[in-house]
Formats: sequence, C-alpha cells, structure tokens
Amino acid sequence: MVSDAPARPDRIAITVSLPIPAVASASATDRDPPSTDGPAPPVGGAAARIHGVEMLCVDDVYRRCRDLGLRLSRQRRMVLDLLWSQKSHLSARDIYEQLNDMGRNIGHTSVYQNLEALQSAGVIECLDRATGRLYGYRADPHSHITCLESGAIRDLDVVLPAEMLQHIETITGFTIENYTLHLVGRPTASRPCPLETPGRAR
Ligand SMILES: [Zn+2]
Repeated sequence: MVSDAPARPDRIAITVSLPIPAVASASATDRDPPSTDGPAPPVGGAAARIHGVEMLCVDDVYRRCRDLGLRLSRQRRMVLDLLWSQKSHLSARDIYEQLNDMGRNIGHTSVYQNLEALQSAGVIECLDRATGRLYGYRADPHSHITCLESGAIRDLDVVLPAEMLQHIETITGFTIENYTLHLVGRPTASRPCPLETPGRAR
C-alpha cells in the first residue's frame, strides 16, 4: 500500500545566510571586560553574566538545593564546591580524585550518588559523551565548543538570530522553545588552545 503522506526526511538541511550570530565566551583573550567585583572570572567558563544569563554562585546553589529539599551533607557540599571552583566539565572519577587529592575524604559511591541526585534535581549539568558522563556547574541551557585536539570542552552562550529561528520553525513545524549547539574545532595557529583540561570521563 502506498501512503499519500509525503516522505519525511530523516534530516533537514537548513541554509540561512545571515550575519554571524552573537557568541559569548570568556576566554582570557575575549573582548568582555574583566569583572572588577565579586569572585575571580571563572576559569575556562562563562562570565558572571552573559547575554542576560545570570550565573549562580555556590551560595545560590546551596539555597536552591534547600528549596528543592535536597539535604546539604558535607559530601554534597564538597562536590558542589569543587564544581563551582573548577567551572569545567568533570567526570565522577575526576571529582573523586581531585577531592581526595585535596585531602577531602570522600568515597566513590558517595561521589556518584551525589552527582546523580544533583543532576536528577536539575542543579548541575550532565553531558553524555562517548567516553562517559561529564558534570558541570551550569544547569541552564547553554552551548559547548569542543577542541578536536585536546578534547577540552568550554561552555558557550550562543544567541541565534530571530530570523534563523523563525526559518527553522517554518521548515520543521516546531515552535522552538530552547536550543543548544555543540561546536567542534581546532585552535587557530595564532592562539593556543584556550580551553580547560579535558575531563577524563570513565
Ligand atoms: Zn556545560
């Protein structure tokens, strides 16, 4: 039997000719002026406020946990403190090793259980990569750029032009509520890789 319905392609090619959309990141050489108050600019991550995105400090996250009814055990606070100080994407093993290297005694199981609870509650980010899961401090939707040479990942806030989003909505029939991009690339010859040390996901 032949269906009258038009064939639905598995992939939709989107061609849009528009100016390069705004992309905000916070490498040491970015144009964003350095913050003069509050904590030091995040390492390899976003500034305190980028394109209207408010970055939570660790105290805000403690408060969020309490509001969500998550118990703030010593171990849970250690995991949160590390994620907020590193501001990168770390595997559970990275977190376990870094905390123990700092003299903070914590078991494997406790690290895994706390990461699971925090990401299930939407407090932290969890990236599923081929090499395993990586955890980050930002739970808001954001994009990433990955270095093809080192595997390092950096958070990015990409704002696509409204015309592009409308075009995508028109051809897909979806109302876009949110989006994230995963960009990959190599450092240019004139700039060494500015990204963080890659997480060793296991
Ligand atoms: Zn991220």
